[in-house]
Amino acid sequence: MSLTVVGSIAFDSVRTPFGERERMLGGSAVHFSLAASFFTTVRAVGPVGDDFGDEELAVLQGRGVETDDIEHVPGGQTFFWRAHYDHDLNVAHTDDTQLNVFGDFEPKLSDASREAEVLFLGNIQPELQRRVRRQCGARLVALDSMNLWINTTREALAAAIAETDCLMLNDAELRMLTEEPNLARAARRAMDLGPEIVVAKRGEYGAALFTGEGFFAIPGYLLEDVCDPTGAGDSFAGGFLGYLDAEDAERPSPEAMRRAMAYGTALASFNVEDFGTERVARLTREEIEERYEALRRLTHFDLAVT
Ligand code: AMP
Repeated sequence: MSLTVVGSIAFDSVRTPFGERERMLGGSAVHFSLAASFFTTVRAVGPVGDDFGDEELAVLQGRGVETDDIEHVPGGQTFFWRAHYDHDLNVAHTDDTQLNVFGDFEPKLSDASREAEVLFLGNIQPELQRRVRRQCGARLVALDSMNLWINTTREALAAAIAETDCLMLNDAELRMLTEEPNLARAARRAMDLGPEIVVAKRGEYGAALFTGEGFFAIPGYLLEDVCDPTGAGDSFAGGFLGYLDAEDAERPSPEAMRRAMAYGTALASFNVEDFGTERVARLTREEIEERYEALRRLTHFDLAVT
């Protein structure tokens, strides 16, 4: 049981209707690692610059994330993302993306990272995702991406998707990738590219799972106080894949995938309660189990009395 993730390791400057923060710790690999760390051993892969210090590493190490494959590039600057959200918190408006040390990063995975059973190719350049994929023989490989890469590197992204088992995109990205407005059809088209499992993340509305066996959907856990949605998708993926890795089955069963959808939903709902990584960094397994149970009660209904 072990999980490797490659993705952005970032500083994020974010404004939401509830406040703003400059240069907080973020990135797809960071949000994912913190969420998955509640279930399994996680190894994070990616470069950082001189501006990334012990304080940032300590957040990951505080949750037991293995950071040996986080490479410090001397003289470099860490990936930087600036974004804002208006009243629809499901839509992030990107104001600036600076790849910095990711620009010419050449991943070299340690033996421990190569041997992971589950691999998450978090949102980053698709060519980079492919280079990591080639080094890792995991039994389950999942991939996330975003509109920037769909628009600018579509062919490389399609090639990366073809080499994975599970595609995890938000619903708008899935429609954009497949040029198919209907979500169920878009998922089928995405499966035609290669993956057997497609997860459509739907922000506060939850998530939908498509496999050869059928369809499952779970609502979001509705909160009255949402602070910052940044990283919710990666936290969902961390809960989903972290749980599946802990289950340790050769191929995840339909029942296990439903439970994983609920854990993903629980982790995403905690992520949005505070800025950046702040809520998940201080989360406990007991709180996760309570929310999982709340979701189970929320989505249960009986047979109608006739
Ligand atoms: P999400 O889970 O979709 O909210 O992802 C938010 C995270 O993605 C932020 O912490 C950003 O640092 C990161 N991010 C934003 N744009 C990119 C990009 N083009 N490539 C990789 N990571 C990104």
